Amino acid sequence: MGARTGQQFLDRLRQNPPNLYVDGARVEDPTTHPATRNVAHSLAGLYDLQHDPRYRDLLTFEEGGERHATAFLVPRTKDDLRKIGAAHRVRADYSLGTLGRAPDYMNANVMAAGMASAYFDQGEGQERHFGEHMRRYFEYVRANDLCLTHALTNPQVNRSKQASELPDPYIALGIVEETAAGVIVRGARMLATLPIADEILIFPSTVIKENGDRSRYAVGFGLPTDTPGLSFQCREPFDLGRDTEDHPLSSRFDEQDAFVIFDDVLIPWERVFLMYDMTLANQAYAKTDAVLHMAYQVVNQKISKTGAFLGVAQGIVDTVGSGQFQHVQGKVSEIIITLEIMKALEVAAVDGAQLNAYGVMTPARGPLDAARNYYPAIYPRLNEIIQLLGASGIIMMPSRADREGPLGHFIEKHLQATNATAEERLKLFRLAWDLTLSSFGARQNLYEKHFFGDPIRMSSALYEVYDKQPYVQRIRQFLDQPKPVVAD
Ligand SMILES: Cc1cc2nc3c(=O)[nH]c(=O)nc-3n(C[C@H](O)[C@H](O)[C@H](O)COP(=O)(O)OP(=O)(O)OC[C@H]3O[C@@H](n4cnc5c(N)ncnc54)[C@H](O)[C@@H]3O)c2cc1C
Repeated sequence: MGARTGQQFLDRLRQNPPNLYVDGARVEDPTTHPATRNVAHSLAGLYDLQHDPRYRDLLTFEEGGERHATAFLVPRTKDDLRKIGAAHRVRADYSLGTLGRAPDYMNANVMAAGMASAYFDQGEGQERHFGEHMRRYFEYVRANDLCLTHALTNPQVNRSKQASELPDPYIALGIVEETAAGVIVRGARMLATLPIADEILIFPSTVIKENGDRSRYAVGFGLPTDTPGLSFQCREPFDLGRDTEDHPLSSRFDEQDAFVIFDDVLIPWERVFLMYDMTLANQAYAKTDAVLHMAYQVVNQKISKTGAFLGVAQGIVDTVGSGQFQHVQGKVSEIIITLEIMKALEVAAVDGAQLNAYGVMTPARGPLDAARNYYPAIYPRLNEIIQLLGASGIIMMPSRADREGPLGHFIEKHLQATNATAEERLKLFRLAWDLTLSSFGARQNLYEKHFFGDPIRMSSALYEVYDKQPYVQRIRQFLDQPKPVVAD
C-alpha cells in the first residue's frame, strides 16, 4: 500500500476501531464520535498532505516501486536526515506543532528499532528470533503506513516501591505466562497519547528497577489497538464540538490521552520483541538509537511550534500597537532567541550525525539532549509572554455568535484593532487563548513538561552520559600552567 490517503486512514480506523472509552462509554466509531471525529479528520488531512503535489516529494520517498512516508526513510546520509527533518516540520506546521504525537514520531521509533533488530536477538528468547520480529514489524508498519501510539510508564500508585511490591503485582503491565500461541500480559501502562491509532507499541520501558536481572515487567511488543482484552480509558475530551473559528486548536487537534489496560491480552509470538531481560529493556531506546530519531522529530516539531508562538506574539503586538515599547520588543525577542536556539540545535544534530552500528545515519546526541532538556524549561515562559502581551485581550473575546448577535455592531466598533477588524482581531486572540490558556492550552503546557519523561530524571540522565572529563582536564591543565617568564 505505502503512503496512505486520509480516506484510507479513516476507513481502517472505522473498520478496526480501538477499544476506546470516553465518558463511561465505548467509542463505537472514532471517525464519528464527538470526542474523536475532529482529530481523526485532522489526522486524515495529514495523510492527504502526502499526496498533495506541493509536498509529495518531501513527505514521501520511493522504494521498490512504492511511495512511503518520509518518517520511514532509513537515513544513510546527512541529506537524508535533512529531508526527514524538513518533512517533520511541514507536518508539524499543519497543527502549529500542537499534535505532539503526530504519526511520524512513532514511525521514527519503529524505523530505528527495525534497523537495530539485531539488538533484540541478545539475551533470553534468542531461539524465538525476536530481532526478526522487530524487523518485520517495521516493514509491516511502513508498508501499511500505520499510525502508532505508545505507553511507557507504570501507573502512579507508589513511586517509592518497585512494581512487584505494589498490592497487586499486575497493577503495572507484566508477563503472566507463555503459551504455544504467544505471551499473556496483564496490567496497565500510562499514558498513551493519540489512542486513535492503528497499533500500540509497548517498546521496552525505560528504567525498570527490580531485584535480580529477570523481570516480568521487561517486555516489548506491538499490537493492533482493537486486540481483545486491550482497552484505552481516555481523559475528558477538550474538543466539545464547538466552532472552529472560536476554538481553532481544540476543535481540531485534541489528540487525546489514555491509560491502557491489558486484561490478559495474548501477544502472538511474532509480535513479541523482548521478554524478561531487564538490561536489554532498560537500554533499548538508547542502544537502538530510537531515542535520537524520536528526539529529532521532536526538535523539528518544537521549531514549528515556537515559530507559531512568534507569529501569534507579533500578531498581538501589531494588533494592539504595542511594538514601540522596549519591554514588548524584549519579550518577542525572547521567543526569537528560543526559536534560533532550537534551529541551531537541529542543525548541530545533523552536522554531528554519524552512521551507527546498524548503518543508520543518526543525529548527534548532545544537541538533541540539550533541546529536550531546554524546551520543557522554556515553554512556560513562551506561554507567559503571550499572556503578558495579550493581557485582557485574551479573555475579552466574544464568540462568532456574539459578533453576529444584537451587540455585533458594538463589538465591531470597540474591539477593532490598529491594523485589523474586530473579526480578525478576535480570531487571533482566540488562537492565543487556545494555545496557552484553554484546557487544550493548559494540557499543552503539561505535555511539554513531561512528554519525553520526567524533566528531573532527564537532566540526571544527561549529567550521567555527558563526557565532562575533557573539560575538567582542561581546567587542571590551566591551573598547573607555569607562570609565563616575563623578561625584565
Ligand atoms: C500530556 C501528557 C502526555 C503524555 N504522553 C505520553 C505518551 O504518549 N506515551 C508515554 O509513554 N508517556 C506519555 N506521557 C507520560 C510521561 O512519559 C510521564 O508523565 C513522565 O515520564 C513522568 O512520569 P509520571 O507522569 O509517571 O510521573 P512520576 O514518575 O510519577 O513523577 C511524579 C513526581 O515524582 C518525582 N519522582 C518520581 N520518581 C522519581 C525518581 N525515581 N527520582 C526522582 N524523582 C522522582 C518526579 O520528579 C515528579 O515530580 C505523557 C504525559 C503527559 C503529561
